[in-house]
Amino acid sequence: MERIPVAEPVLTGNEKKYVNECLDTGWISGSGKFVTGLEEQFAAFCGAKYAIAVFNGTVALHAALLALDIGPDDEVIIPDLTYIASANSVMYCNARPVLADIDPTIWTLDPDDVRRKITPRTRAIMPVHIYGHPTEMDPILEIAREHNLRVVEDAAEAHGAEYKGRRIGSIGNVATFSFFGNKIITSGEGGIITTNDEGLAAEIRILKGQGMDPKRRYWFPIIGYNYRMTNVQAAIALAQLERVDWFIERRLEVASWYNEELAGSGVTLPVQAEWARNVYWLYSILVPESVDRDHFMQQMDAAGIETRPFFYPMHVLPPYHDAAGDEKYPVSTEMARRGVNLPSSAKLTRADVKRVAAAVRQALEQQVKIR
Ligand SMILES: *Cc1c(COP(=O)(O)O)cnc(C)c1O
Repeated sequence: MERIPVAEPVLTGNEKKYVNECLDTGWISGSGKFVTGLEEQFAAFCGAKYAIAVFNGTVALHAALLALDIGPDDEVIIPDLTYIASANSVMYCNARPVLADIDPTIWTLDPDDVRRKITPRTRAIMPVHIYGHPTEMDPILEIAREHNLRVVEDAAEAHGAEYKGRRIGSIGNVATFSFFGNKIITSGEGGIITTNDEGLAAEIRILKGQGMDPKRRYWFPIIGYNYRMTNVQAAIALAQLERVDWFIERRLEVASWYNEELAGSGVTLPVQAEWARNVYWLYSILVPESVDRDHFMQQMDAAGIETRPFFYPMHVLPPYHDAAGDEKYPVSTEMARRGVNLPSSAKLTRADVKRVAAAVRQALEQQVKIR
């Protein structure tokens, strides 16, 4: 039987046509009509005023933080359960990521723990819309208002997700997205930053283009970066964006099949808060407490099904371990221990989902027998 991967790009729209146009016209570097087209259309998709395309989702975070003047000795509160880029991007600014625990049901930043982590050095909060589910933004925005903090949304995994009927992308001061190969839409490597703040958008454009003064060629008032997205990347991303509704519909359909097939199996299913639209970037489950998660993943692998463990919590990783000190993160620790991402690509059929669900049930039964 064919292996079922966790994620797989689908490149069957205008990707080839647009890339060929780049090759035919010689527009292959960091500017061109696909870059501007992508920026315009992605901004419209998110309901944001501005979008700035960059090389990947990690530099999108870095540029967003720099544009907010995050620098040495500043603290940025991030969730303990996230992808490493959220923490690293803060370190690139010589600032300090401060870890907060997560909500036990939707696995996003816990506002009560955010409050506890605020110090006089806190400058920003970075909610991460993990695995496609948005963070509950009102409490975060409220804390930000009270303490005069900026809000950077790491939306790398949440294209099209909605908070109270509004698309992610302009709720905080700035949001960033990734177009990595396994994300909801892809350009291979790629990223984009969205904001409603004109000044911030202009600053990010300067930063991504080596810091050059937009009105004075080869005049560099600041140290910038080369974070430009190429027209070839943008050609792929734009073709993907043309079908983004389809990509999201497919994920919702796959999630609804999993919800049916896995009901009553003993695993904890992902939820959708009543104020949210979860886009199910990855369909993520928790194995029962008594189950050995890593062994469960080996059983799935033997059945020809790829799975992924949840991210390690940041506080256990060597670069962040010492700073976390004796602080405990009970929820993220538990979720990271029990969490598994199941195959979630837009290509999955109902038969695939049935096969995955049957393998989940079988793996759990076998583990019960062994005990
Ligand atoms: C993928 C991802 C990123 C980084 O994106 P890249 O494009 O791979 O650099 C950042 N944050 C989160 C939460 C991600 O999942």
